[in-house]
Amino acid sequence: MDKIFEILHARLKTQGLHESDLHFSHAHSAFDRSEWESANAQIRTALESLFDNVAKLTLDTNKTGGAARKQLQDDGLLRPREAKLVMEFMSVAGGAGSHAGVSNADESYGRMLAGIGIAYMGLALIPELIRVEDVLIGNLTAPEGASLPTDIEMFTSCPTCHLKQSLSVASITRDNKDTIYICKNGCQTIVVVSSPEESAWSGRGYRLGNYVLRNAQDLFLPIKEGVPPVLIPASKAALMKSTVGSS
Ligand SMILES: [Zn+2]
Repeated sequence: MDKIFEILHARLKTQGLHESDLHFSHAHSAFDRSEWESANAQIRTALESLFDNVAKLTLDTNKTGGAARKQLQDDGLLRPREAKLVMEFMSVAGGAGSHAGVSNADESYGRMLAGIGIAYMGLALIPELIRVEDVLIGNLTAPEGASLPTDIEMFTSCPTCHLKQSLSVASITRDNKDTIYICKNGCQTIVVVSSPEESAWSGRGYRLGNYVLRNAQDLFLPIKEGVPPVLIPASKAALMKSTVGSS
């Protein structure tokens, strides 16, 4: 069970679903304390938050709860039977209030596992994070006899601790539609992959096709042995947040 929660925690964290993650961890500890009712309630809250965020990310809606899940169904993201499964589970989880509570470990464990299953149905609807290496493909052409660098090969440094690091060792997480790379030591954001429609301020990044790379320090792209790496200079306003209409 610990392992299942560990994997789920990593998935939720990467997708920036911190609220849902928090409630799942509360559910886990409540279960460990044999507080079945509380574990059950936390699972429900975790799923509510998860599906609200899935709807926001995929459909750009601020609807919440049942209305958000209904929208996911109406727009065809959740197929009718999946939507029904989610709906039924939510009402089972919600029905276990102070009266018709969960009475034993097996029942609670079963609901926990079912809840985690439902969580993965939600996670499956969220697109993969766009990494720097994904942005290069299709937007840059490698010279003959070379290939485009991957995250493992590209490197930059952290303005705070000055550690030079490969992008693959930075931790990545989602911030709405952006991908955030955080210094290996957890100091700060070092690279952001975002879409240009967000804003097109000068000095705010390096545009490549449908994306903008914003790096706090110079970013190096090794292309070929013996040739100096391609440099994407640090963007002055790299990590500035939009001041208008951001949430
Ligand atoms: Zn650092």
